[in-house]
Amino acid sequence: MTAYVFAARPTPSVAIEGSELRFPVRRIFCVGRNYREHAREMGGDPARDLPFFFTKPADALVASGEAVPYPPRTTNFHHEVELVVAVGRGGRDIGASEAVAHLFGYAVGNDFTRRDLQLAARAKGQPWDSSKGFDHSAAVGAIRPAERGHLASGRIWLAVNDALRQNADVADMTWKVPEIIAELSGLFELAPGDLIFTGTPAGVGPLTRGDRIEAGIEGLGLLTNKIA
Ligand code: MN
Repeated sequence: MTAYVFAARPTPSVAIEGSELRFPVRRIFCVGRNYREHAREMGGDPARDLPFFFTKPADALVASGEAVPYPPRTTNFHHEVELVVAVGRGGRDIGASEAVAHLFGYAVGNDFTRRDLQLAARAKGQPWDSSKGFDHSAAVGAIRPAERGHLASGRIWLAVNDALRQNADVADMTWKVPEIIAELSGLFELAPGDLIFTGTPAGVGPLTRGDRIEAGIEGLGLLTNKIA
């Protein structure tokens, strides 16, 4: 047994629907600009700008029902509802036709963003860690196992204090889930425990302390968080 100089942190994990077992998280990958209308609202040109990847640390995870502290150093803290896929079997250079066989399951996620820091970083060509990978920035609801069916379409929505902010269909993604896995596994060897946020539709917007967020995808369990 390895002896550490201080207690090692427990592995971050996500609940699984209908199971006492938990999904141990290794890495969190995210797709940027994967819905055309969101690319447009961010000032991009979806015909020219392809989706791309960034990451968040695994210990940025927040569960459904947990409070999310309003983060420091921002005055423009945003929600982004997203389909999250959980990798159950790893691999590199996975073909799109075999990609969904590598999935453990599906969940609703919220890619919390310090939008002011993101836009400043983008303007200067700087990395996105401070705007995307901060503490408590990765909310993920319970995972629905893929053995209960794969998910390629269905309404994706988010409401703040019962007011609908985002409302689209998962089928509108630029890169579909199999293409995301094919692309990502060409860049990184995927491993069991990896989570992939697949991008947000249009309608992102600011949050304030006390806001109650509900996010859902047809067929998946609700993700609810309050801003503390
Ligand atoms: Mn996002």
